[in-house]
Amino acid sequence: MKLLLHVCCAPDAAAPFEVLKNAEKKPWEEIVGYFYGSNIHPADEFIRRADALKFLSMRCGIKILPRPYEPDEWFAAVSHLTDEPERGERCNICFSLQLRAAAEEAVKRGTSHLCTTLTISPHKDAALISRLGAEIAERSGLIWEGRIWRKNNGFLRSVQISKELGLYRQSYCGCVYSKN
Ligand code: SF4
Repeated sequence: MKLLLHVCCAPDAAAPFEVLKNAEKKPWEEIVGYFYGSNIHPADEFIRRADALKFLSMRCGIKILPRPYEPDEWFAAVSHLTDEPERGERCNICFSLQLRAAAEEAVKRGTSHLCTTLTISPHKDAALISRLGAEIAERSGLIWEGRIWRKNNGFLRSVQISKELGLYRQSYCGCVYSKN
């Protein structure tokens, strides 16, 4: 069994990486992280977050596969939803884009299971993300590893690890709309 974990950013990955690495029963032959990032604005911010993830990856020994930064593709998919609030339809499309890209990579690599760190954030709808992830995994012939990472104080643990490691912690979700 191989797991591809879609990773939205380093702080949100900190606790999931710890849980996966320290699990007493280790069913995974391989765990890799996958970073989408084309939703992030501006490019400097993408680089800052990608660097933080590289650092976390080295500390935890979990490889990260970064996707090339292609913001035009992301903007094209959401440009009709500029006025949507956070947690609205634009975010649903954004989650789907990220999870579909992760699923494509998982299929390419012959990975069996798909998961995401997005469910760690108290600001995001974990049930919706899980449903989208399960649908995308099923359509791609993958098994959805449905984890709600924020359970059992997962979010607090991620904040704690991020502070201990001095990880860059952003103040907005990622896109230009959330920044504004
Ligand atoms: S607020 Fe976050 S989840 Fe919503 S569209 Fe922007 S980057 Fe994506």
